[in-house]
Amino acid sequence: MNTNIVIVGGGPVGRAFALAASRLANVDVTVVERSVTLAPAPAAAFDHRVYALSPASLVFLAEIGASPDAARLSKVRAMQVWGDDANSHLDLAQGQPIATIVEHAALMFALEQAASNIERIRVLRGAVPKAMGTNGNQHELEMDDGSTLRADLLVGADGSRSQIREWAGIPAVVKDYESDGIVANLHCEFAHGDVARQWFTTDAVLAYLPLPEKQISVVWSVLRAKSEALKALGDADFCRAVESAGHNVLGKLTLASPVARFPLARVIADHWCAPGLALMGDAAHAVHPLAGQGVNLGFADARTLCETLRNRSRFSAAGDMLVLRKYERARREATLALSELTDKLRALYMSNAKAASWVRNDGLSLLNRMPHAKAALVHYAFS
Ligand SMILES: Cc1cc2nc3c(=O)[nH]c(=O)nc-3n(C[C@H](O)[C@H](O)[C@H](O)COP(=O)(O)OP(=O)(O)OC[C@H]3O[C@@H](n4cnc5c(N)ncnc54)[C@H](O)[C@@H]3O)c2cc1C
Repeated sequence: MNTNIVIVGGGPVGRAFALAASRLANVDVTVVERSVTLAPAPAAAFDHRVYALSPASLVFLAEIGASPDAARLSKVRAMQVWGDDANSHLDLAQGQPIATIVEHAALMFALEQAASNIERIRVLRGAVPKAMGTNGNQHELEMDDGSTLRADLLVGADGSRSQIREWAGIPAVVKDYESDGIVANLHCEFAHGDVARQWFTTDAVLAYLPLPEKQISVVWSVLRAKSEALKALGDADFCRAVESAGHNVLGKLTLASPVARFPLARVIADHWCAPGLALMGDAAHAVHPLAGQGVNLGFADARTLCETLRNRSRFSAAGDMLVLRKYERARREATLALSELTDKLRALYMSNAKAASWVRNDGLSLLNRMPHAKAALVHYAFS
């Protein structure tokens, strides 16, 4: 009999895992997604929600047959980082692109298209589980339409407020950053040169990510009070605020998309598995967007869980703790380290202490004069 893998959450990570898992022998995969709508082909205008994909994530997407349309991708060939003293900065570049920017819409379209031809993947849209029952390694989801789904392996990929995590009784440490991530696309007067730019100040982290056609995606992580003040601005004043926070490096900016806000929190689940159940993506860990690593970490989870399932002994079932713990061990420590680093970096930049100010300004300039350290940083952050 085939192994039933049920994935709750059809976001980028759940959909990628579904594609990867469908390549395992003797499995049937069901994706349960609350949202009703199919991802449409990307519209002419760029989606305001974008991801900076690492080279490893791009390889993974190619492996599962879900490479996004190349016309919608933009390569980041260099990165510039500034401290709050406008003279201190760090230039990061290497021979090949550091990261690739992809819109959420283009990514979801590629993932859905790839799954549409695979019979072993069943996608239930507009579907939400009402309750979860557990019997040994097996789980049963009672669905809101009265049906029941039986899972030999239940995967919670249902985002940072994961219902599956809660039903499984897995505690999570949640740190509310009391900040919003403000995202929007803007046309820029001067060419961005495929450079990602980031400014760290004591109340915000601002990122300009290059998009095709002289546009940038702005991700501005700001404390809630500043977020409210920015929300009150009209479009033109908002653009002036973005220009000024980015020291006018790209000249005049004009809005090319709506402005959206996402509350920011750090989440890390105490465990990533239980008998017959695994967590992945934001359901297991959500990190501050300043490192732009959220979806990359989730794709690494999806790839690792698949490899662990593929390499298990033929005497083990997919839901065995011995198997799932291997997945957790392979992913949790590294994710925790990145989550800590991001959190500490954010704290360093928000601190008014003199030592912190030295590190974020003089320290940045010092690092800028150390090519080997810079190369190591690029490798750590983007591989
Ligand atoms: C402002 C901001 C900027 C970011 N920038 C970047 C970046 O540049 N690069 C990057 O890698 N990451 C970035 N991230 C992080 C990234 O968005 C997340 O890490 C990523 O979306 C996680 O994907 P996921 O599939 O795990 O979860 P989600 O994207 O949250 O998807 C979860 C899915 O589960 C569904 N769902 C939830 N509950 C249920 C339920 N009970 N039943 C059925 N379905 C359910 C939801 O509808 C959704 O489709 C950013 C985040 C923010 C807030």
